[in-house]
Parts: sequence; structure tokens; C-alpha cells
Amino acid sequence: MAPQAGYQIVEQEFSDFVDTATPPEQLCSGFVWAEGPVYFAETDTLLFSDIPNNRMMAWRRGKGASEFLNPAEFTNGHFRDRDGHLVSCEHGGRRVIRRYEDGSVEVIADNYQGKRLNSPNDLVVTSDGAIWFTDPPYGIASSVEGYKAKSELGTNYVFRVDPATGEPAIVADDFDKPNGLAFSPDEKTLYIADSGAILGAHDPTFNAAAPHHIRAFDVVDGKTLANGRLFVDIEPGVPDGLRVDSEGFVWTSAGDGVHCYAPDGTLCGKILLPEVAANLTFGGLDGSYLFIAATTSIYGVATTRRDAAGRR
Ligand code: MG
Repeated sequence: MAPQAGYQIVEQEFSDFVDTATPPEQLCSGFVWAEGPVYFAETDTLLFSDIPNNRMMAWRRGKGASEFLNPAEFTNGHFRDRDGHLVSCEHGGRRVIRRYEDGSVEVIADNYQGKRLNSPNDLVVTSDGAIWFTDPPYGIASSVEGYKAKSELGTNYVFRVDPATGEPAIVADDFDKPNGLAFSPDEKTLYIADSGAILGAHDPTFNAAAPHHIRAFDVVDGKTLANGRLFVDIEPGVPDGLRVDSEGFVWTSAGDGVHCYAPDGTLCGKILLPEVAANLTFGGLDGSYLFIAATTSIYGVATTRRDAAGRR
């Protein structure tokens, strides 16, 4: 049952994070599965993927949404690197790429030891320039969000691409379907969503026995992960994309909108939406406006928070 757009205050402090008198605003609509919101302050523009339509969209306040790229190799998650360049996960190309202003593309990763990646889903760039990304099979499970194909790797890893060598290394190998990921402000904790309970866009079955949770890991020397533990189970739905704010609060997509968790895993509150949320990013000219990609629409919420990684 889809909720009305609004807020649920669980811990009182959440009422300081959002303006409860102003409901989430539907900024634009008409997409099939909006994903991968990424903000450019230079032009006050939000880019995002509309995955099944194989296109990327650009939205500006007062101008609405227009096509940015079509076809787009079924891009999913996006992030900006330290130089502001757009880094994208492609289901279709089964790769992670960096896109330059002149339209040229640099392949960051498309295989691991000669075997093609499944369909990179989401990524984050750390302050050392490393690119961490997840590789579930959603883009090859059917031709709805990519091109149906067999997995060459046979499983679903989380990778880190070293900025010095350019080589991907496996940092986690025990996920069902790793999805969104985000670092704590000090980059010493990495949160990774496991959306294994959702099989893919081709199959609406929700397998409650499979993961629908976020795990937390200690980051060792900026390169490897240790001490993996359950951070929170997400209900309803699954966690897809997530972000961490500058105080370490975790904002994650869920079946009923966006949930906000304290660093100790306490649920602080929810942004309730009438559509399933897929991903989110802080943006706006002062970095505190939360853009949420939720199925057919992009929603916006004014907050008092900012992204842990700054405006990237
Ligand atoms: Mg995702």
C-alpha cells in the first residue's frame, strides 16, 4: 500500500532534519525506473538514469526534464570523481566508465581477470580516487534493464578499482545482490546494501527469505574490508541506493520512501513517498536538497543535512 508523500518522525531529532510542514515535492515524472541521481552545482542540474528506457535525463528547476543521452547503454548509478567528471555504471556495456566533457569515454572496469562483469549497479569514489562498485546481475537477468546474458563471473562481487594501478580487486564476495554503497564521513566504514530479495525488473517476486538489508564494514588501510556485520534490515522493500550525511546518518531508499538511520542503526524517521524509492543524492546549490529517484518520478526534499563526501 503506497503511502501519501509526507514524513514519519520516529526519533525527535528527525524533525530537525526535514521541514515537516513542506511535503516531498514531485519534481518531474513520466519515467519507467528512475535511478542514479547525480547533481551538478555548476549548472544546478540533476542527471539521472531512466533504465528501462535506456536513456539519461537532465532536470533543472523551472525547465523540467529533458533527455541528456539516448541510448545510454542502460546506465544505472552515477557519481562524480574528484575532478567533477561523471562516473557511471552501465548495465548494457557491463562496465564502469568515466565521461569527459567532449563526450569521450574512459573504461574504468569491464572485466575481472578476463571475465566480463555482470552489470555494475552503483559506485562511489573515495577521497584517494579509488572507485568502489557493486556488480549484481540485474542488467543481465533479463533484457528489461540491459541485455540478457549469462554471468561469466558466476557470482556477484563488490570491487575496488585502485587509483594507481587501475585494476579492480574483490573487496566482498559474500553478497546475494550487492547494490548501493556509501562511506561514513571518515571513510572508515562502508555501508553496502544487499537487495537479494528482489530478483529483477522482469520478476516482481519479493523473496523475504533473501537479503533486504544493509551491512557495515570496517575499511582497512583504505583498501580492504573487515568485520562485516548487519547494520539494518529494511522493510518494506529493499535498500537500493543510499547516502551518508556529514554527521554519519545513513539515508537509504526503501519500499515506502527513504529511511534515515543513526550511525548506531536506530531508525530516526522516514520520508514517505507514494512510489518505491530506488536511489537518492544530496544536491541543490547549498548541498542540502535531497533528490530521490522513485520509480516513475524524481522527488525533492529540503533538509538541514549535507552529504558526507561533499557535493559529489
Ligand atoms: Mg542500485
